[in-house]
Amino acid sequence: MTKSDHIRNESHDVSEKGYVYIIGAGPGDPELLTIKAERALQEADVLLFDDLVSGELVDQFQGIKIYTGKRKDSHHFEQDEINSEIVRHALLGKKVARLKGGDPFVFGRGGEEIEVLRKNGIRYEIIPGITAAYGASAYTEIPLTMRKISSSVAFCTGHPVNKIQVPDADTLVYYMVASTVHDVLDAVVSKGRSENTKVAIVQNATRYNQKIFTGTLGELRRREKAVYSPALLIIGDNINQFIEQNWFSAKKKVLITGGDARRYNSMDHILVHFPCRQIEGADRERVKACFDDLSPYSTVLFTSKFSVKYFLAALFESGRDVRHLASVTICATGKAATLELQKHGVIPDLSLEPDGCADIVTMFRENGMTDGHILIPGSNLVDEYLVHGLTALRNRVTTLCVYMHEMQEHAESIDLEFIDEIYFASPSCVKNFRTLYKSIPAKITVTVADTGTEEEYSRLFGEA
Ligand code: SAH
Repeated sequence: MTKSDHIRNESHDVSEKGYVYIIGAGPGDPELLTIKAERALQEADVLLFDDLVSGELVDQFQGIKIYTGKRKDSHHFEQDEINSEIVRHALLGKKVARLKGGDPFVFGRGGEEIEVLRKNGIRYEIIPGITAAYGASAYTEIPLTMRKISSSVAFCTGHPVNKIQVPDADTLVYYMVASTVHDVLDAVVSKGRSENTKVAIVQNATRYNQKIFTGTLGELRRREKAVYSPALLIIGDNINQFIEQNWFSAKKKVLITGGDARRYNSMDHILVHFPCRQIEGADRERVKACFDDLSPYSTVLFTSKFSVKYFLAALFESGRDVRHLASVTICATGKAATLELQKHGVIPDLSLEPDGCADIVTMFRENGMTDGHILIPGSNLVDEYLVHGLTALRNRVTTLCVYMHEMQEHAESIDLEFIDEIYFASPSCVKNFRTLYKSIPAKITVTVADTGTEEEYSRLFGEA
């Protein structure tokens, strides 16, 4: 045991069974986290986080991060699996932070998680979060209650469709409505609510890409408009308070790529971070060492498009090309990874469209790929299940970080439609940015730091 482990155990009195914090992360804006939650996250050894929790928020903390959401390119966790993962880490004596979007006890399945903890005798505490309804209300300036207009509010769910309830409250807030908006509106009207009642749909509340649609119950029932998750539906006369230009929509949304953005006063701007980092520090050395001697590896396994993209970029950067991989078996899981390899002239020896890591492990078993040494290039977040599964087939597994998680998180998700200004901290940020976005919409103001020459920047912006 190191000295710091010793100090830690004494001061925090962690029993052998560890400790679990069930934490509400708030609706999206990373600053909507309680001070208590922040402290617990700083202490945590392991962080298990869901889809609705911002990657930017999670990245601020040191613990091992395990994504338990449903993103396509990663392992899909069922609730049972999440429960056992929490228990497993706790039983190893770890401090576990279970981070959930909004509040853990509002449509958050927090109740199920504590049941499992109770059964296993694991100590825990619950730290509330700002639920989406509160976030949406504040960031759209739609009060949930208002003297003389609305004196009661109900939180309901639009899912499943056959269980939609319409309580007798002045303001109704529906969660989980992305695919059921019309069913909810129909149910509300059939309960006798006037078709003139105002309705607001709030997508991505409190985030830079917050979007609001308003209308009457009657109008929105007839309008065929796609609603994207996460979205809330608010119904009630309190929506008459709504104004297009509210305090949040009036703020400038600035996309910060890399470096230090102190020049932006965060009270005047909404900062959206796009770190544009690729390989950093020790990993760059590891990647180099790996290319210098690939002989120990029998197989390279690519599990995402990004793993291919950044692995090959690093390979080319080292002055080599795909012939360098001639002696290893190349496996790809997921269509995107296979296509990315093909783009570079590589047809994988084995490719599979898996549902999750169980399928990948089955593929290896069925193809007799045991007793090998598998290299898995990927991000700083390692899929431990996959590593365990492949190791159980007597393979040696080496993971190699070729890009930082943020790159992937933000790359696919930042919608430039909502951005007013982009700040580039260096020419390399422009370069990285341009690998993901071919052009910058004309309405966006571009600001560059003085870390590069004007010539350098204009050359980079000129390249298509
Ligand atoms: N525990 C969460 C709710 C989880 S259920 C909470 O307290 O907020 C998931 C649903 O929450 C989504 O389908 C959506 O209806 C709502 N939601 C969560 N974050 C949201 C956001 N930023 N904007 C709009 N709706 C959101």
